[in-house]
Amino acid sequence: MKYLLALDQGTTSSRAIVYDGRCRPVATAQQEFHQHFPQPGWVEHDAGEIWKSVRATAREAVSSAGITAADLAGIGITNQRETIVVWDRRTGHPIAPAIVWQDRRTADHMTALREAGQEALVQNRTGLLLDPYFSASKLHWLLRAVPGARQRATAGELAAGTIDSWLIWNLTGGREHVTDVTNASRTMLMDIRSGGWDDELLALFDIPKAILPRIAPSSGDFGTCDPALLGTAVPIHGVAGDQQAALFGQLCTDPGLVKCTYGTGCFMLLFTGPDAVPSRSRLLTTVAWQIGNAPMQYALEGSVFVGGAAIQWLRDGLGIIKSAPEVNDLAARVPDSGGVVIVPAFAGLGAPWWDPSARGSLFGITRGTTGAHIARATLESIAWEVADVLGAMQKDSGRRITALRVDGGASASDLLMQMQADALGVRIERPRNVETTALGAAMMAGLGAGLWKNSDELATVRETDRTFICATTAKDRRAKLKIWRKAVKRARNWTEES
Ligand code: ADP
Repeated sequence: MKYLLALDQGTTSSRAIVYDGRCRPVATAQQEFHQHFPQPGWVEHDAGEIWKSVRATAREAVSSAGITAADLAGIGITNQRETIVVWDRRTGHPIAPAIVWQDRRTADHMTALREAGQEALVQNRTGLLLDPYFSASKLHWLLRAVPGARQRATAGELAAGTIDSWLIWNLTGGREHVTDVTNASRTMLMDIRSGGWDDELLALFDIPKAILPRIAPSSGDFGTCDPALLGTAVPIHGVAGDQQAALFGQLCTDPGLVKCTYGTGCFMLLFTGPDAVPSRSRLLTTVAWQIGNAPMQYALEGSVFVGGAAIQWLRDGLGIIKSAPEVNDLAARVPDSGGVVIVPAFAGLGAPWWDPSARGSLFGITRGTTGAHIARATLESIAWEVADVLGAMQKDSGRRITALRVDGGASASDLLMQMQADALGVRIERPRNVETTALGAAMMAGLGAGLWKNSDELATVRETDRTFICATTAKDRRAKLKIWRKAVKRARNWTEES
C-alpha cells in the first residue's frame, strides 16, 4: 500500500500527517514556533525556524507511522497564505524575517493606492481588495527596507515566495523555486485569469520579476525532496493554500458547493468552477486550484473575523465558561436566547458590511437575562454572521446554495451546527475527518502521483459524520433575520464621530 505525507504549515504551528491510500490518517506530528511582534501591528516569523519545524514533524510522522520514505507516493503541502519570505539564492538564508499575513505595516501604502484610484485595476486583475493582508505590499516593503535588496533582486541574486515556495526550495535542496497557482493568486501580483505574473502589477509594486518563483498547477510536479530529508527522494505532487486545500479536502468540486471553516474566525469558500466570478459585495475572487493541465478553477471567498473567538471571549473575557466546549452545556440550559442578540464585531465587521468602526454589541438584556442566554446568543451570532456571508455569495454568484460543508474547531458544536442549519435553511454536512486542510493537500498529492485518476474517484473517501437539517420555517427565519439585521445596524458606525 502506498502512503501520502501532508505538510500543513499553519500560522502558529507546523503539522505533518501520514495518510494511507484511502486517505485515512495514520500518524501525526506537530510543532509550534515563535510569533514575533516587533512593533504594534507587525507580525513576523523566522522562516528558518518554520523550515526546521516542518523537517522535524515530517520525519517524526513518517517514523511514527512505522513506514519508510519509500512507502510514500508523494508529498502534499498546504500553508498559511500571503506570508512572504525573501532569501539569498546562493546561501539559502532569509535576508529578513518573514512578514506574516496578519501584519498591518503596509496599511498606509494601501490607502495611498486606493486614493490614487488603483483599486479597480487590482480587483479586476487579481480578484483581491487593496489590503495589507496580501503579499505584494509586504514584498515591496522588504525590498525597500533591507539595504541593497532591490538591486540584488534585479540582479537575480534573491528569491522571494510565499511559505509553500520557501518549503519547496528547502525540501529540494535549493533546486526548485516554484509556487502553486492558489498561493500565487494571493500575492496580488498574479492575473487570476491568465495564471501568470502581471507586468502592470509588478510595476505598481516595483517588484522585479527575477525574484519571483515559477507558477505551477496545484497538483502536478514540484520536484523531488532531497534524500537527506527522509532517507529516500520523494516527489512533491500537491501544493495549495490552506483554505483552498480545505475546499478540496471537503470535495467541493462541483460548482455551487461551499465550505465553511469555524476556527478563531470563519472562512467560507464557494466553488465556482471555471468561472472567476467578480464580486459586488467585496468578497474575494480567488483561484480554487488547477489539477495538472486542466483549466484553472475558481472560488468566491468571504471571512468573518470573529467566529470561535466569540466563544473564547465568553471564557476569557466574561469568565462564564471554563473551556470552549462548555458553551454548549451552558447554552442548552435555556430553550432560546430570551431576546438577547449579540453582534460580535470586536474588531469591526468584515464581509459583507466592511465596517471597521462597528463594535461588539449586546442587545435585548432584561432583568431575567442569564449567562445561558448570553452563551446561546453568542452561538447564534456566529451562525448569523456566516449566513450574511453566504447570502452575499448567493447574490454574487447567482446560485442558490443547498448545502454547507463544515469543518474547524467550533464545527464540533452540534448546537451551533443546528443553529446554522436553521439560520440558513440549508443542510449542514460535517465530515468524520474535520482535518480537511491536510487532507486536501494529501488528495492533491495523490492525484499528482496518479493514485486516483480524477477527483470523482475520491468521492468514496469522504465520510459524513453528521448532517443537520433545518428545523425552522421560512417565515420564522425571516423574522429572526430581521432582528439580527436591526442589531447589526445599531452596532455599525460606533467609533465614528457623530
Ligand atoms: P484555529 O485554527 O483558528 O486556531 P480551531 O479550528 O482550532 O481554530 O478552532 C478553535 C475554535 O473553536 C476556538 O475559538 C474555540 O472557541 C472553538 N471550539 C473548539 N471546540 C469547541 C466546541 N466543542 N464547541 C464550540 N466551540 C469550540
